[in-house]
Amino acid sequence: MERLFSHRQDGEACECVLTDAGRSSDAKMTFLHGPPRCGKSSLALQYAFELVKRSQDEEAMVVLVLHVSTKGNRHRVVPVDPCESCNTPVKTGQDMIYWNRIRIKYLENASQLRHFVCSFHMFEGINTALIVDDLDMFCTAPAQIYPCMAFLKETMEYMRSKFNSGLVLVLGTSQAFPRELRRTLRRWCELILQIEKSNNDAFSIHEETWKSEVDWADILPLFPVTYRIDYTFTPDSPTTQGHLQIQRVDASS
Ligand SMILES: [Zn+2]
Repeated sequence: MERLFSHRQDGEACECVLTDAGRSSDAKMTFLHGPPRCGKSSLALQYAFELVKRSQDEEAMVVLVLHVSTKGNRHRVVPVDPCESCNTPVKTGQDMIYWNRIRIKYLENASQLRHFVCSFHMFEGINTALIVDDLDMFCTAPAQIYPCMAFLKETMEYMRSKFNSGLVLVLGTSQAFPRELRRTLRRWCELILQIEKSNNDAFSIHEETWKSEVDWADILPLFPVTYRIDYTFTPDSPTTQGHLQIQRVDASS
C-alpha cells in the first residue's frame, strides 16, 4: 500500500512521510478492513489510480470489482486531498488517461465473483491488479469466503506469470470478518491491514497481528517495521462535501 502514501514517485521528500528507502511494503495479496464509513472505498479507488500511474507498462490496467448495489451512488467515494506539506497527489491534465485505465466491474454475489475471477484470463487487456471492494457484500460465511480467496490468489499468480506483475487487494468491513476469521485469511493474504478510528475524523492503518504460543509465524508481523498511516476522513453526504487527506506515514524501522 505504500505506493499510495509514500509520495515516492518522483523521489521527492515530504516531512509527513517517514519511510525506510529500499524497503517495500507492497504485498502481493492484502486484506484491508475497517469500520463502516472509514474511507475504504475512497482509498481503494486512489490506490487503483496510483497503481496505474506508477506502472512501468503504459497499457497496464487495474480491475476494480464493486458490488452492483453501489452503482450510481456518487457519495460513495471522495477524492484524496493533496498533502499539506508536499502537495501529493498533484492533479494534472494526464490524470484522465490514468482514470481510464481503471476498469470497474459490477457483480452481485459470491458466485458471480468466483466466476469472474476464475475467468479472469478471458478479460482482455493487460490487467495487472485486481481490487475487490466490500467483500462482505458478496460473502460473509467461510464457505463462501475461502473459495473466493483461493481463486483470487490463483488470479494474482496468473497475472504474475502472464504480465510479470500482479497485485490483489481485498477490502471489507471489520465486523463482518471476526478476528479469528481474519486470522485464517493469512493463508492467502501476506498482509492484513486494519483501519482504526482514533477520534472524530482521524483514522489510522496498521498491520494486524496475532499472538500465538503455538505458531511462531503468526506472532511476527510481515514487515518488521513500524507501519502506520494516519489520515482524516469525512464521508460525502448530500449536504456536505467529503474529505480525505493523508496526515502522516511512518514505515521506517
Ligand atoms: Zn506529503
